[in-house]
Amino acid sequence: MSAGETGGPAPAERSAELRRQIHEHDHRYYVLDDPVVSDQDYDALLAELRGLEAADPELVVPDSPTQRVGGKASERFPAARHRLPMLSLANARSEDELRAWVTRMRAHLAREGFANARFAYVSEPKIDGLAISLLYENGELVRGATRGDGEIGEDVTPNLRTIRAIPLRIDEAPDLVEVRGEVYLPVAAFAALNEQRAAAGESTFMNPRNSAAGSLRQLDPAVTASRPLSMWSYGVGALQGKKPFARHSDALAWLRERGFRVNPDVMVHDDDDIEAAIERCRFWEQRRTQLDYEIDGVVVKVDDAEQQFRLGAVGRDPRGQIAWKFAPTTATTVLRSIMWNVGRVGALHPFAVLEPVGVGGVTVKLATLHNEEDLLRKDVRPGDEVIVTRAGDVIPQVISPAPHAAARPDRAPPPRPPERCPSCGTPTTKPEGSVFTICPNRAGCPGQLFQQVKHFVSRGAIDIEGLGEERVGKFLSDGVIADAADLYALTVERLGALEGFQETSARNLVAAIAASRERPFARVLFALGLEEVGFVTARNLAQRFRSIDALMAASAEEIATTPGIGEKVAATVVRELSTPGVASLIGRLRAAGLAFEQQGSAPGEGPLSEKTLVLTGALPTLTREQATERILAAGGRVTSSVSKATDYLVAGDSPGSKLDKAERLGVSVIGEEELQGLLAGGQGS
Ligand code: NAD
Repeated sequence: MSAGETGGPAPAERSAELRRQIHEHDHRYYVLDDPVVSDQDYDALLAELRGLEAADPELVVPDSPTQRVGGKASERFPAARHRLPMLSLANARSEDELRAWVTRMRAHLAREGFANARFAYVSEPKIDGLAISLLYENGELVRGATRGDGEIGEDVTPNLRTIRAIPLRIDEAPDLVEVRGEVYLPVAAFAALNEQRAAAGESTFMNPRNSAAGSLRQLDPAVTASRPLSMWSYGVGALQGKKPFARHSDALAWLRERGFRVNPDVMVHDDDDIEAAIERCRFWEQRRTQLDYEIDGVVVKVDDAEQQFRLGAVGRDPRGQIAWKFAPTTATTVLRSIMWNVGRVGALHPFAVLEPVGVGGVTVKLATLHNEEDLLRKDVRPGDEVIVTRAGDVIPQVISPAPHAAARPDRAPPPRPPERCPSCGTPTTKPEGSVFTICPNRAGCPGQLFQQVKHFVSRGAIDIEGLGEERVGKFLSDGVIADAADLYALTVERLGALEGFQETSARNLVAAIAASRERPFARVLFALGLEEVGFVTARNLAQRFRSIDALMAASAEEIATTPGIGEKVAATVVRELSTPGVASLIGRLRAAGLAFEQQGSAPGEGPLSEKTLVLTGALPTLTREQATERILAAGGRVTSSVSKATDYLVAGDSPGSKLDKAERLGVSVIGEEELQGLLAGGQGS
């Protein structure tokens, strides 16, 4: 049944309307860098148009957005005609769609007389930035342009020259070479830029891609220069005075040798092995949240240049390439209200109650807003449309108001922290120099107590299996326990009498609580939940002092001699340990049999003994926590900032400013492989 028969507009009318709307959105997105709908909403319009055109090919007109790339180049910049068109990419959203792509390519080549084609593939991260073409003549950068409508882009050469990742000259260059790639703004810089703009009352950017485009397409190159843009290169376009590359991977290797940033984790999959490419897509999906640049998928390309050429293009998409798209990690929705939660040491944390929205494959209703200063900086207010992001398992967060939200005339006033604690009603205070308004009722606030016990039993801390947030809340509210130490007095009989427990589950929980007595001192210290004492600080303190008694007897000056601990944190540790509630909790936990002394080898024994390491960027296989654990287990220390006392900086992908500092100070920089060598007892370089 067609749309017309259902009473809706006829397909011809509807497709004309969709074309009109899409053209309008393209103009706002590509020319003005100021979209008014989210990518999902845009994609839905395009998908509807594609569906109508597929059902009736007569509806396909040459200027349909399904046939054209991007938007018209802006007249604010000189026009740059591309020597070879810059195309878009077809999408695949499932493994089967990728396999179907291979079948389609094979069928196409068979029709051209090349039966039973076999392919090698290249898999590359799909960078969410702005496509750029760089033209080099005799090794000199002569022109840099945006994609525009694929035929004509915008000449933004002076702006591109300000980007350090773009070589201005290349050695051993042919007469002419066009390098293609993606200019992007790191995720953290995007969030910071939006905060700045919201605070200044300017409109914000919808996503990192928009912010990159907005930063690059500036009439004043000085503005571009002030934004930390970078570029990943992913291909060669026009080429003269050199034998063409036989394979795409050869072109990438050539670019890398000439100083272009080519992603080090691009991979070639030989032997027609699409399954290996699919596996790689999954790898990138997992890794996505650890990168400091936004990727929205993986591009899989046929490696052989001859095959690529024969495959040609369909509409705006080359047949020999496809983009595996991930579920988007940002979305826009309405902020219904702002609520406040009390943390384990009394700090009040704002969080957002949202109109439910799908982000990264799940429905998000609540999101963090970190702290009140962050909230003020972002300037989000109830009723605003906001941008929400959810990266992997990380708690969803509100990045900023959506573009134009701040222009609403009836906007609510900026939110303020509550005058009374939402949990116990005690009047709140804001200590001098603190970013948090706090509930001062440390000993008696049920909200704080709940957070303390929740932290105590959590995975990285004492880790009691089967004791989640919900049960902790119920135990406290029903008076089964009054604090964490009471857990150790629970018996099978007592638990068995509670609602929701059978004898087996009661036994299991009692056994899990008993097993937690085996946790080492450092974990116990972390589990106490002292202000400023995170996992690494607890490990360092445990290594330095070796017992709670020694730590409690230490002065702030002595504590400040611990690696990675400054004077401010040392003073807080002393204050925390002398708080009456904390001291009595320690006494009762000790009586319950928890470890308050370091067992085993002396601090610093092992292949990394006396060595101080700093981690930066995403390592290829180890997570931050795993790397830290292993370094500490090998006798080393991990601190958070680079100084002259640092022995090694372990740098992964997209390392950031720590790398610059290490290089300035002459600190050895190593990768994960060298770290593994050191852990195994090898010598550093
Ligand atoms: P695309 O982003 O889906 O894919 C093509 C682009 O991928 C290339 O042009 C290139 O820039 C980029 N790319 C990144 N890494 C690459 C790599 N390793 N190799 C090759 N290319 C790589 O397609 P598109 O046509 O650029 O843009 C469509 C997107 O823009 C959609 O997500 C759409 O939702 C969004 N859009 C939104 C609006 C709006 O109003 N919200 C309007 C227009 C377009």
